[in-house]
Amino acid sequence: MLSYRHSFHAGNFADVLKHAVEVLILEALKQKESPFIYHDTHSAAGRYSLSSAHAEKTAEYVDGIARIWQQGEVPAPLIPYLNVIKQLNSTSTLKHYPGSPLVARLLLREQDRMQMTELHPADVKLLEQEFAGDRQARVYKQDAYEGLKALLPGRNKRGLVLLDPSYEIKTEYRQVVQEIAQTYRRFATGTYALWYPVIERRTIDRLMRDFVGTGIKKILVIELCVKGDSAERGMTGTGMVVINPPWKLYSQMEELLPWLTKELGQDNHANFRLEWLVPE
Ligand code: SAM
Repeated sequence: MLSYRHSFHAGNFADVLKHAVEVLILEALKQKESPFIYHDTHSAAGRYSLSSAHAEKTAEYVDGIARIWQQGEVPAPLIPYLNVIKQLNSTSTLKHYPGSPLVARLLLREQDRMQMTELHPADVKLLEQEFAGDRQARVYKQDAYEGLKALLPGRNKRGLVLLDPSYEIKTEYRQVVQEIAQTYRRFATGTYALWYPVIERRTIDRLMRDFVGTGIKKILVIELCVKGDSAERGMTGTGMVVINPPWKLYSQMEELLPWLTKELGQDNHANFRLEWLVPE
């Protein structure tokens, strides 16, 4: 258990989609003055060096962020995400990549707060170092799902809950939906964004059926497949299930997904999906 290290995968095509969506949701929350909470269930280390032994071993970022970060003409909804990446990389060499917690931290206003759970001892340590002395951020060495129960809703009325499991145990695809449904009962005004990998299509079909079965409304599915579906080729695509998305997110993704599919596609079957799994 807990053999997954995000440092091998930082900046890959799945991170690009996940973090671009995260940024758009946080920017939408900032449209109102009132404070919000950012809750990250599976935080990992927070920041990555792309020249580390881990990142160089897999070089997954080469087919992810490296393909797009310096392009001159990009769809408008990608700009706030690329600005975050450029904030960490002030020269023309891509050296650093932010994890989901740091992406959020760079966007938070004074009135906003963030809380993170993570269990891997090495990553928790890095996360604690990253946020040491930060009065707006709290790191908890705690199980993701216990953290949801213990920390939400607190006093919060608005916020984003980002769930990014490593799915090391297959049952997690089912568990995570039930955990979201339970949290939603206590915090129905929050926005929830769950990341998933497309490895086996039938697993994703079941994930969607499980979401429909919760009875929750306003569920948007955003998916980017860089290759056609295949049971033999590892992760061919990635997606986000977003509950209570900001109203502009659908149209922003309509603009962004065709471009990302073109730029990040790895074969002729690259495709995207954008649909209301459950409408309002
Ligand atoms: N969200 C991060 C980002 O975008 O930068 C990446 C997260 S990574 C995909 C998944 C993380 O979840 C790993 O660091 C792993 O140690 C952690 N993890 C796995 N199971 C967990 C659990 N039950 N509770 C808390 N953390 C867990």
